[in-house]
Amino acid sequence: MRKTDYKQTLEQDRNFSWHPFTQMSEWMSNDPVLIDSGEGAYLYDSDGNAYLDANASIWTNLHGHRDATINEAIIQQLNKVAHISYLGLAHQPGSDLASELIAMQSNSEIQGRKLQRVFFSDDGSTAMEAGLKMVYEAAKRIKGMRNPGFISLDSAYHGDSIGAVSLGQVGIFHQSFKGLLFPVDKFMNPYCYRCPFNRGEPEPGISSIYWKKCHWECVDQFDRACEMRLQRTDEAYAAVVIEPEIQGVAGMVSQPHGWLEKISAIARQHNSWLVFDEVMTGFGRTGPDFAWKNSGITPDILCLAKGLTGGYLPLAATLTTQEIFSAFLGEYQDQKTFFHGHSYTANPLACAAALESLRILQSTHSQSHREKLSHILKNALDPLWDIPIVGDIRQSGTIAGIEIVQNRSQKTPFHWKEKAGIRVCQRLKELGVLTRPIGNVLVVMLPYCANQADFQMLSSTLVQSLTEFSAGMPQKYLN
Ligand SMILES: *Cc1c(COP(=O)(O)O)cnc(C)c1O
Repeated sequence: MRKTDYKQTLEQDRNFSWHPFTQMSEWMSNDPVLIDSGEGAYLYDSDGNAYLDANASIWTNLHGHRDATINEAIIQQLNKVAHISYLGLAHQPGSDLASELIAMQSNSEIQGRKLQRVFFSDDGSTAMEAGLKMVYEAAKRIKGMRNPGFISLDSAYHGDSIGAVSLGQVGIFHQSFKGLLFPVDKFMNPYCYRCPFNRGEPEPGISSIYWKKCHWECVDQFDRACEMRLQRTDEAYAAVVIEPEIQGVAGMVSQPHGWLEKISAIARQHNSWLVFDEVMTGFGRTGPDFAWKNSGITPDILCLAKGLTGGYLPLAATLTTQEIFSAFLGEYQDQKTFFHGHSYTANPLACAAALESLRILQSTHSQSHREKLSHILKNALDPLWDIPIVGDIRQSGTIAGIEIVQNRSQKTPFHWKEKAGIRVCQRLKELGVLTRPIGNVLVVMLPYCANQADFQMLSSTLVQSLTEFSAGMPQKYLN
């Protein structure tokens, strides 16, 4: 990109664009990084500077940028047709992808529950929205519920459309849109690091889920919430909504071993359905292709998006069981149809990209490489424990969150106005690493094509930026 174009682009951005989750008054007074191209795990700005894409372009990218075979799959489909409606028409990329996604759920028959149908939409929020509506209608028809209700985890994030925000439990998003939302109960999330019931002491070098000492009080609280719902309304929850294995936006809160099994057992006792949001955790991020396989607990609804196309095009899928699907079958005049859909549902280009991405994901090379990556990531993050502001490091597969604190022994969080996470990421950017914090948690999630050298570079820049940041802090904080 030429320098003059660069200037014009920034000018136009400043004058006409409105960026998501961005305080635009700050944005307009700064020069953003202007990305021109990408290759593998790196992005290049208009001056030719390279940046490691350390949050995989907001958790979407799997195999790296400009992967030759994904590009080729999109081009081949483009040479046939770019888009046709899925309303009243079928196409091969769509049916191949639906069939492949179901095949990947293969060992979901263990508990006699099997995901058998795929409903396509465009992004994580719409995948949740579709799942929410399926549950609502099916609970009325199958369970005879009058007022199907939901419960979700504290700090949960499920997207930004109104239904998805209602299902979520992020305080600031709720405050803003309060009058538009429907009530959803919440239950305690297993945030062991800051859990009031955890009697274990932080041990540098060991993630909080391993030093936890408790009696699963969070699980008891969930049990009580289910009982109370029953007493209050005479109806159990229609569904429990969970991001399995690790909650992303909540601050990379990883769940201790056995937690999901306990919660699911209680939900099943109450005959509540399980909705798993694997928008972030899906497609190998936590080890197996889907995070539910870590526990073997099969959901009744599985929501997928972000990594579905390898991070190339917007596409999402809501998978469900024959039981829920059947609730929408009947004569035309019964009006049991699922009255929901989007113009770009099952876009053929996106489906073609997804099919190729899944092919790569399931190759033996990719599987064994991902296994190695989780060890390489752990080794890359281990040196950070020596930095006093590092309170906790939580990792699941190739996802990690580094929680920074003012004071390690007291676990004192940095105040919002100190923008600690933002400042550390600002410095990382100068050092050639791009990622966004979640409050005081630094997110690390590299594309799977990253190699040992990339992780080494990640490690040393994290050490440098965190060490510099602690050096700039008043001495009283550091003990
Ligand atoms: C990103 C995300 C969503 C929302 O997906 P969008 O594609 O941004 O609408 C939903 N759930 C989880 C867990 C996510 O990480």
